[in-house]
Amino acid sequence: MGAESNGKKRAYEDPYKHCGLATRAIHSGQEPDPATGAIMTPIYQTSTYVQEAPDVHKGFDYARTNHPTRLALERNIAALENGKYGLCFGSGSAAASAVVQSLNQGDHVVSCNDLYGGTYRMFTKVYERFGVSFSFVDASDIGAIDKAITPKTKLLWIETPSNPLLKLCDIRAVAKLAKERGVKLCVDNTFATPVLQQPLEMGADIVAHSTTKYIGGHSDVVGGAVVTNDEEIYEKLKFLQNATGAVPGPMDCFLVLRGTKTLPLRMERHSANALQIARKLLEHPEVACVNYPGLPTHPQYDLAKAQMRLAGGMISFELKGDLDRAVRFLKSCKVFSLAESLGGVESLLGHPATMTHASIPREERLKAGLTDGLIRLSVGIEDEKDLMADLERAIAKSLDPKAGAAA
Ligand SMILES: *Cc1c(COP(=O)(O)O)cnc(C)c1O
Repeated sequence: MGAESNGKKRAYEDPYKHCGLATRAIHSGQEPDPATGAIMTPIYQTSTYVQEAPDVHKGFDYARTNHPTRLALERNIAALENGKYGLCFGSGSAAASAVVQSLNQGDHVVSCNDLYGGTYRMFTKVYERFGVSFSFVDASDIGAIDKAITPKTKLLWIETPSNPLLKLCDIRAVAKLAKERGVKLCVDNTFATPVLQQPLEMGADIVAHSTTKYIGGHSDVVGGAVVTNDEEIYEKLKFLQNATGAVPGPMDCFLVLRGTKTLPLRMERHSANALQIARKLLEHPEVACVNYPGLPTHPQYDLAKAQMRLAGGMISFELKGDLDRAVRFLKSCKVFSLAESLGGVESLLGHPATMTHASIPREERLKAGLTDGLIRLSVGIEDEKDLMADLERAIAKSLDPKAGAAA
C-alpha cells in the first residue's frame, strides 16, 4: 500500500531549478548522503529497508517500489528535461513498454515509419497481440500524422532525429496537432538528448529515453527513462513501474547518474566533431550523400536550427559503390569500431543494411532510402583529426577489392 502513496510524496522541488543545464546535470537530485555526507550518491545495494513500525519508514519500503540511488537519477533526468517527474527503467525498451502499457485494449497509436527497430518490434509483435493497434507514417509530414489519427487514437509516438536517415519531425507542430485532436504526444529523445532539445518545453506530454546511449554515454550500462509534467500520466507510469517491475538496479543507476554529469560537455564535443566530419564527407569524391541536420544541405536544416541547439553526434552517409565496397570500408576502420548501439564516448560505425535494419526485406529497405552503401556513424569525443583520418584511410582502402580479400 505504501507503493501508491509514495508517488505523491516524491513531488520534488529542485533547488537548482533556475540554474543552467550544466549545473543541473551535476547537482539536481543529488544532495549529499544524509547518513554520511558522501558527496556522491551511494550505490544503495539493498532490496528492503527496516521499518520503525508497520508502514512507518523513511519513504522507502521495498526496492522495486522506491530506491534512493534510482530516485536521485529520476530527479536528475527530470531536471535535465525541465520536467516535474522522472521514472527510470531497466532499458529504453522497458521505458517505452511502460508508456504503451498505460493504454487500453482497443486504443490506437500513430508513430513514425522510421522508428527504432526494437520499438517497432515491440509495438507490432507484442502490443498488437493485446489489442493495441499502430499506424506508421512519415512523421516529417504533419498532414500524414493528422490523417492517421482516428477516434481511437490515444497516443502519438515520434523520434527525431530518426535512425539512420536523420530525418526530423517538427515537435512544436506535432504537439499542437496532438492538443487539437485530444491525444498525447510522446517523443523518444534518445538521439538528441535534453542538451539539444527539450520536447516538454515544445509541448510534448512525455519524453522517453534509452539511457544506454548518450545519457549513460560510456557504453557500460543499459537503461531507460520517461519524464513528464502531467501528474496523471506520472501516477499511471509510476504504478506500472512498480506493478510490472522493469526497474534498473542500483549500480546501473549510479553509472547513468555519473554519465549525466558530463552530458552537456559531451554533447558539445559530439556535435562539434560530427559537424566537422559531416562537412568533410560532403566534399569527399567517394561519398554520394551525407545526412546530418547541421548541414545546410539537409532538407530540414531550418527546422533543425529552430528546434535543436546543436545537431548532435549521429551522421549517416552513402559510400559510392556496391555492398562489397561498403563491407571493405567497414572492416578497414581502426578508430571507429564496428558495433551496434551509439552515443558512447568512443566512435562507432554501423551498416544498417546488414546490421540494425537487416530484418527488413531489401526491396522495402531501398524504398525507405536504406541503400547497401549507407553507413551510420556515432561520432565520439576523440580528436576530430584522428576520426577523419581514419575514415579517409578506410575509404581509400575500400577502393581496392584485394584489400577486402586480405583483411
Ligand atoms: C537504443 C534505443 C532504444 C531502445 O533502448 P534499449 O536501452 O536498447 O532498450 C529506443 N529508442 C532509440 C532511439 C534507441 O536508440
